[in-house]
Amino acid sequence: MSRFLSQKLQGLEAYVPGEQPRDKRYIKLNTNESPYPPPADVANAVGKAEIEDLRLYSDPECTALKSAVAKQYGVNTENVFISNGSDEVLNFAFMAYGDNGAIFPDITYGFYSVFANLYGIKPQIIPLRDDFTVDINDYCGKNSLVVIANPNAPTGIALELSEIEKIVSSNPDGIVIIDEAYVDFGAESAVKLTEKYSNLLVVQTYSKSRSMAGARLGFAIADQSIIQDLEKIKYSTNPYNINSITQIAGAAALNNQAYFDSNSKKIAETREYVKKELINLGFTVTDSKANFLFAKSDKIGGKELYLSLKERGVLIRHFESKRIKDYNRITIGSREEMEIFLKNLHEIIGGKK
Ligand code: PMP
Repeated sequence: MSRFLSQKLQGLEAYVPGEQPRDKRYIKLNTNESPYPPPADVANAVGKAEIEDLRLYSDPECTALKSAVAKQYGVNTENVFISNGSDEVLNFAFMAYGDNGAIFPDITYGFYSVFANLYGIKPQIIPLRDDFTVDINDYCGKNSLVVIANPNAPTGIALELSEIEKIVSSNPDGIVIIDEAYVDFGAESAVKLTEKYSNLLVVQTYSKSRSMAGARLGFAIADQSIIQDLEKIKYSTNPYNINSITQIAGAAALNNQAYFDSNSKKIAETREYVKKELINLGFTVTDSKANFLFAKSDKIGGKELYLSLKERGVLIRHFESKRIKDYNRITIGSREEMEIFLKNLHEIIGGKK
């Protein structure tokens, strides 16, 4: 740290992303990426002309992409905000709506507490139940910024849409963010509630079910007034937040929703298969509706398992925090990748009593 850093940033604890090692090729089951590439529509949309156009600034209004997202979700373009990964819109929302505090679970996406800290928001952190489920009563009638990942991460456990609606309707004077990064793998989206509730902000990403984590593309759907707030922040920080190649790629990807739906289905099927195998091996596994499993074994500690698998070229995600240190989060890859994961797991666990 230099002596010049603003005093208010000196105590900041930055987010630590999952490992992205470049030393060798791992079977990468640690950051919830898709095992499948984007559809051919994307490659076909980015040619020489688009590369030559990189000399120009990108469209700050993301006109074509916004229209494509609006069409896909049956909303108006005024209800859509496009962001540089969903992390960016989450960042903007904490900046915009945290004046009366923020409330979220103790076990959830780690960036929420980083954003709260960044903006001097004192978070109210609510422990999940012992079985890692959310008690929605904890989030009703709070009228501060409520942040719920649905499905939650890293547990993968989802709330019903009726439960989400209860949270939203009971907080008329606070924004409720529903972070739907993993919704396409088996939960129900709250997008349709945005028409009815002007305090609901639904956030989604291209990074998981849409196979485009490297493009850095996210979006949010909400009442027009909320979108205007987010646009104001964007135009006060980085008006050209989405590069032109990503805008083209993002719009082209939506031409082939069927491809994504079929991949999400395959991933959900593989998840259920791997879950059964883990249970057969004695693991405790949560009821994940996401593209990952969250599991612990009585035979081996979370960190030891993570390290043993890493040595064998398989990366999974281990978290140090006390309540979940025995668990690991395992991204669902292709069936072939998961067979290799399971084979290694059998070898590691097989030797343990
Ligand atoms: N929300 C949740 C729950 C996540 O797990 C992630 C991925 N780390 C994100 C948001 C952010 O993803 P991205 O910025 O790639 O859209």
